[in-house]
Amino acid sequence: MSVRRVRAEGCGTVYNVLESCPACGHDFAGWERRCEHIAEHDPEDFGLSPHGEIPEDHAKPLFGGVGDGA
Ligand SMILES: [Zn+2]
Repeated sequence: MSVRRVRAEGCGTVYNVLESCPACGHDFAGWERRCEHIAEHDPEDFGLSPHGEIPEDHAKPLFGGVGDGA
């Protein structure tokens, strides 16, 4: 995945432009709408759980802390 930082002329706003898809590596053309391509993927393509499935360890602390497991 590559991201390019761009500063808008005139207002100085800085934003990020996704240059390739993090799921499949597709290189985006300058005009291509990133959200439309990303929406074609399933959550599993990004290492996430499938739609509607809740992993057993969903309540586990992210960084090894003590949790109630609920
Ligand atoms: Zn893709």
